[in-house]
Amino acid sequence: MSGAMNRPVIEVNGIGEETAKQLEGLRIYTVGDLLEHFPFRYEDYQLKDLHEVKHEERVTVNGIVQSEPSIRYFGKKKNRLTFRFLVNQVLITVTFFNRAFLKSKVTVGTELTITGKWDQHRMTITGNELQAGQVIRDTTISPIYSVAGKLTTKALKKYIYQAMKQFGSELTDLLPDELLQKYKLPTKKEALSRLHCPPNAESMKHARRRMVYEEFLLFQLKMQVFRKVNRDKSQGKAIIIPKEEIERFMTELPFPLTGAQERVVNEIIKDIESDYRMNRLLQGDVGSGKTVVAAICMYAIVCSGYQAALMVPTEILAEQHVQSLKSLLEPFDVTVELLAGSVKGKKRRERLDRIKNGDIQVVVGTHALIQDDVHFSRLGLVITDEQHRFGVEQRRVLRDKGENPDVLFMTATPIPRTLAISVFGDMDVSIIDEMPAGRKTIETYWAKPDMLERVLDFIEKELKEGRQAYVICPLIEESEKLDVQNAIDVHMILQQHYKDKWKVGLMHGRLHASEKDAVMESFSLNETQILVSTTVVEVGVNVPNATIMVIYDAERFGLAQLHQLRGRVGRGDAQSYCVLLADPKSEVGKERMKIMTETNDGFTLSERDLELRGPGDFFGAKQSGLPDFKVADVVHDYRALEVARQDAATMFQSKQFWQEKKYEGLRQYVEQQGVLNGQKID
Ligand code: ADP
Ligand code: MG
Repeated sequence: MSGAMNRPVIEVNGIGEETAKQLEGLRIYTVGDLLEHFPFRYEDYQLKDLHEVKHEERVTVNGIVQSEPSIRYFGKKKNRLTFRFLVNQVLITVTFFNRAFLKSKVTVGTELTITGKWDQHRMTITGNELQAGQVIRDTTISPIYSVAGKLTTKALKKYIYQAMKQFGSELTDLLPDELLQKYKLPTKKEALSRLHCPPNAESMKHARRRMVYEEFLLFQLKMQVFRKVNRDKSQGKAIIIPKEEIERFMTELPFPLTGAQERVVNEIIKDIESDYRMNRLLQGDVGSGKTVVAAICMYAIVCSGYQAALMVPTEILAEQHVQSLKSLLEPFDVTVELLAGSVKGKKRRERLDRIKNGDIQVVVGTHALIQDDVHFSRLGLVITDEQHRFGVEQRRVLRDKGENPDVLFMTATPIPRTLAISVFGDMDVSIIDEMPAGRKTIETYWAKPDMLERVLDFIEKELKEGRQAYVICPLIEESEKLDVQNAIDVHMILQQHYKDKWKVGLMHGRLHASEKDAVMESFSLNETQILVSTTVVEVGVNVPNATIMVIYDAERFGLAQLHQLRGRVGRGDAQSYCVLLADPKSEVGKERMKIMTETNDGFTLSERDLELRGPGDFFGAKQSGLPDFKVADVVHDYRALEVARQDAATMFQSKQFWQEKKYEGLRQYVEQQGVLNGQKID
């Protein structure tokens, strides 16, 4: 960082001890902190034509008062002032809350300029500023800062201007000129000045783009450092993998691998063979064939004399994996066993012994895998499926059970690649971005609940073809609070509806493990044709003969979850269908249903979901682990995040970066990061 930016903020003229203290409350200590205390939004005072303004957008309009204001009081402090207002031939309503004192300014025939939020449906502006006459401003975009204590936006603006004046000429740029030219970005000095004092919206956006890029580039460089430090520190083990045996295993598979599967298998094998510890995320949409990739990698490690563990979030899934892994691995003399809550007593003790002495080579389990009494003989590879459901801590415990085992996290949650990289920071990412050949697109329909009869007829039509159906409900049983379908009721309704014609099963989280097994088994054998269930079948469940997925109250689920549920069908050769029964009230809710009907691709879906909802919702607010950026927004700027990631990786690996003068600023930053991590970068 350049010197000026590191000076204490008190060196800015006009800032004394007391102000400096107040600024600390905003975490502003240096001139740099002050200059990078960006507005959290801008007030746009540019006059607009109401036809061009979107619903709920902020707007400034100029017009003539048409009616005397009416005021309603609610209690002592609350009131609402309302009047009719003519803007460019359009008659609208203006409402102010708790500003009854404005009454004297609002008289019929007066010209006013009003700023507020536009409600397109009710033709109303909820105002927060009102000025007499037609207001002429020198700039129409005015920054609004977050302030605290006694500090006002006005004072803050003054200090920032002063700091710019005093230190602006000393600001140096971290970014080399060639990058600025490549992306047509303004210099740092220019960007700062435009963000704090934007001449127009265009130029402000431009400046923002520059700060976003800088912020992301620094972040990605830091990630490069973490990754390197991690690799240098982790004493993995170089494993020699017998290539011919793996080849033989792959040729014996019931199907040829897709190109993408082959590619990720190679990436993973390379990691296993290397002398650093693998820390890799494997992303692949529902049904893209992650299990077989896991099987190949486990086979590879077993051939090299190690054990492998696969950890999954539910027993149903664990059992299913045991089945498919047994059929793939046992012909090659690999022992696969389950370790889950349902394995108890003597059987469990016996399994633990065989894990400890290395007799069982592949262990599949739930959380039971990470209990204290589980010891491996030689654990070389840990795989978790649907990793987002395990906390960081659980993953660490499992990893610590081996001697630095390689770790692979598999997930079907389609996180946009760039976000995956920022969320999981220092991990490497492999993506299966291709579906096995011959898969048909699942046709998805959005139906209102009153169309249920037709949906039931549709289900029946498919059942007559020998197919099966899932019906998903948000709740297990009736709830007083929520007017939502529950599995128990729906199960009863469907049983009555289909009477003796079809068998309807019921599945939910409160059943005992053995009951769940029985229900699942009956459904996979097609003894039960319809399975009413809560979302316990969400992950992994594989019954290829099921072709219909009906989801009640679909608006209550996230897009990622709906996509997972939909992924339970379309697993065989037959055309499959997904019906969303939903009556969402909000625009966003409707949009989400529409997106589901429009795309089958998990990645596209996740990107659109992010745009609609923000990453907190997608990952669960707390666990998102996304870093806080000052200007940048990982959701809306994720393309820039990807560009920055590529640039950072290229730089980090290039000779020039470590030698040439123009990279000095960035290099210094990188070196600081390295030192913070207790390691010198060479
Ligand atoms: P997911 O990635 O959702 O875990 P699975 O591993 O369960 O997907 O695979 C879904 C289905 O696709 C399984 O029935 C599996 O046998 C099949 N499958 C996997 N890879 C291929 C392939 N290359 N060609 C054909 N079918 C495949
Ligand atoms: Mg799976």
